[in-house]
Amino acid sequence: MQSPHAFTVLKALRASPKPQKKKLVRRTVPDFSQRWRGYFQIAFLAMNLVLGAQFYLFVRYYESGGNSLPVSRPPGVEGWLPIASLMQLKLFLSTLEIPTIHPAGLFLLLAFMAISLIFRKTFCSWLCPVGTVSEGLWLLGRRVFGKNLALPRWLDIPLRSLKYILLSLFLYAVLSMPVAGIEGFLESPYGLIADVKLLNFFRFLGVTGAVVMAVLVALSVLIKNFWCRYLCPYGALMGLLSKFSPSRIVRSPDACIDCGKCTRACPSLIKVDKLIQVTSTECTGCYECVAVCPAEGALDMRFGKSRILGAKWVAIGLAAIFLGFVGTAMMIGHWETSIASDIYFELIPHAAEFGHP
Ligand code: SF4
Ligand code: SF4
Repeated sequence: MQSPHAFTVLKALRASPKPQKKKLVRRTVPDFSQRWRGYFQIAFLAMNLVLGAQFYLFVRYYESGGNSLPVSRPPGVEGWLPIASLMQLKLFLSTLEIPTIHPAGLFLLLAFMAISLIFRKTFCSWLCPVGTVSEGLWLLGRRVFGKNLALPRWLDIPLRSLKYILLSLFLYAVLSMPVAGIEGFLESPYGLIADVKLLNFFRFLGVTGAVVMAVLVALSVLIKNFWCRYLCPYGALMGLLSKFSPSRIVRSPDACIDCGKCTRACPSLIKVDKLIQVTSTECTGCYECVAVCPAEGALDMRFGKSRILGAKWVAIGLAAIFLGFVGTAMMIGHWETSIASDIYFELIPHAAEFGHP
């Protein structure tokens, strides 16, 4: 038998009005963000593949003593030298002179940092070829297995800190190095052909390297953006800079119908439907959440307090910043390296002999 008290509570509950289900006001303007982003991803992946092929032929020319197809060195490969670029940034800030060994690397780093300061971590989801391959791998995993794995919080949080630990180690190494030490490193045989050393690392991977790569690929198929989420120090740097960005995903609770589609779509596993603003360093500005949101005015990327930042404007901004930095470097004559051809003839055939100074 119910007590009189329980009866009163039950009656009160029955009498209280049911929470009103919010009415969906459908979006009228179609979303093209994923199309824009896809164009950028394909363009940057293709550009990097072309750069890689051209650089391989360049290296072969010097390895063969000038007996193969002569190909010029693509300066864009220096985008793959983040530590040398960080060193050059310190050198530049200390001496106010633009370094001449890998100047393209410095300008690319500055371009990507500027992008993160303005448009959040869009470098990772729009431009980075590793991010594009990572995305392709987890999409493949989802197609094959029906879903991707999400690690439990107790494992996910400490693993996410790994990329910040790696970044701290690199920053400590670079910041604690005196200017003369950085100059000595960049002018050493290893520093001069750091790009060739990186290429040769992948060319002559060895068993350990191949196993590590295979494990990373397998984990990337199972877990969304495994490398980017847990291990990439470059992404960690871009994420920290994105904290100062005026761009962010903003949800309007009045227009939101609490369907949760945004949270389910977010590759960074951010609970978008529980937040008013997404300020996480994990947000890559991919617009996936905006693309799936069915409610008019519920979810947008905003620039500053109120201005809506459509994906088209991010695309224009990314292109302008990237081409602006590259074009400036070319115009002022600081895009190509100053390393002479005879130094490459001397060093490249013996690249395996030069260890880290
Ligand atoms: S919050 Fe939105 S924009 Fe940010 S990573 Fe998640 S889906 Fe992409
Ligand atoms: S997708 Fe997210 S923001 Fe949009 S209506 Fe659903 S819960 Fe709200």
